[in-house]
Amino acid sequence: MNYWNFFNASLANIKLEGRYRVFQNLERCAGEFPYAIRHTSSGEQKVIIWCGNDYLGMGQNPDVIKAMIEAIQRMGTGSGGTRNISGTTHPHVLLEKEIADLHDQEAALVFTSGYVANETTLSTLGASLPGCVILSDAHNHASMIEGIRHSRAEKIIFKHNDYHDLETHLQKIDPARPKIVAFESVYSMEGDIAPIQELAEVARNYNALVYLDEVHGVGMYGHKGGGIAQMRGISHLIDITQGTLGKAYGLIGGYIAGKSLLVDFIRSKAPGFIFTTSLPPALVAGAVTSVHHLKYSHMEREQHQLNVAYLKRKVEQSRIPYLESESHIVSVIVGEAKRCKEVAERLLEDYNIYAQPINYPTVPKGTERLRLTPSALHSFEMIDELVDAFTEIWDSMDLRKAA
Ligand SMILES: *Cc1c(COP(=O)(O)O)cnc(C)c1O
Repeated sequence: MNYWNFFNASLANIKLEGRYRVFQNLERCAGEFPYAIRHTSSGEQKVIIWCGNDYLGMGQNPDVIKAMIEAIQRMGTGSGGTRNISGTTHPHVLLEKEIADLHDQEAALVFTSGYVANETTLSTLGASLPGCVILSDAHNHASMIEGIRHSRAEKIIFKHNDYHDLETHLQKIDPARPKIVAFESVYSMEGDIAPIQELAEVARNYNALVYLDEVHGVGMYGHKGGGIAQMRGISHLIDITQGTLGKAYGLIGGYIAGKSLLVDFIRSKAPGFIFTTSLPPALVAGAVTSVHHLKYSHMEREQHQLNVAYLKRKVEQSRIPYLESESHIVSVIVGEAKRCKEVAERLLEDYNIYAQPINYPTVPKGTERLRLTPSALHSFEMIDELVDAFTEIWDSMDLRKAA
């Protein structure tokens, strides 16, 4: 085997298909959200980030920054161990209490990322429950798909957001078998929101555990930031809520929340929880501050919603094609990989606007897009500038407009 030929051919193929990923080299400017310095071979460029997931600007919240600096001075950098072997720091204990309360659940467990939380929780449950079947929404995130795969449990994919299809599958499964129904609240690429109540009720009728990924909902929806289920008053229908500290909470880390027995089971069994160094205490202290802050402060959520509504209105008025959704994710559709890339390049080069083009296989061919995420800290002027830039680019490239 010539390894180097293999890697080279694989990469060449990815490039040929237009799927080769080029990362922007960015330096976010604390205190100047959403600005960042873009480093290029020809120098530095100040840009506005339009595709980040730090939806509420909590990544630069002064109280969070202060909590982290104080904690790092008091406790140092790393945690020094796995959770079991000296790595359960006091901030970890506080954070798990804070998260359990966030979701009105008995207990919570923190992981090194949302990806790990999904992967290791689903793989552990699927592998442990004898004869388990996992029913998974067709649009589920890669972290859930991988977890289900690693569990080696039987997997059934139900049609996206389709509770009738879910029920059709559930009817055919031996009632005695353990079942998990796994789906998301807000889907990150389309920005659509699941019929959580209907899906959860169908699942519960068949005695399945309800597993909900609220990654794009936590912090932003619900009276304390507990997500879409909380906003809709249906948290009690969810057995396991999974979330992240890396998006609206502005840090890194993931978690699950649920009944104590279930959380204790995962704590005792999941390799992705047990066999890895725990998050640095300063980071966890920052998360305690961020989660706590967004329980009581509604300003960020309200401004976020105003900005989202304003951007949608402007895009609509300018007849730039976009996916209508109830959520905060505004996907502008270009519909062809090369042109999508070109729109993004022009935004960056001519307007200092950074929006990452999203192409196949992340989204289906023909729906290549720019996934825009207005934050609480983008101004109306920034939104005006963005939509004006789109209009100029659309006209100069002769792109299709909405009717
Ligand atoms: C980002 C994301 C995750 C992973 O969370 P991280 O904390 O970034 O690892 C899980 N699920 C969904 C739907 C996501 O978009």
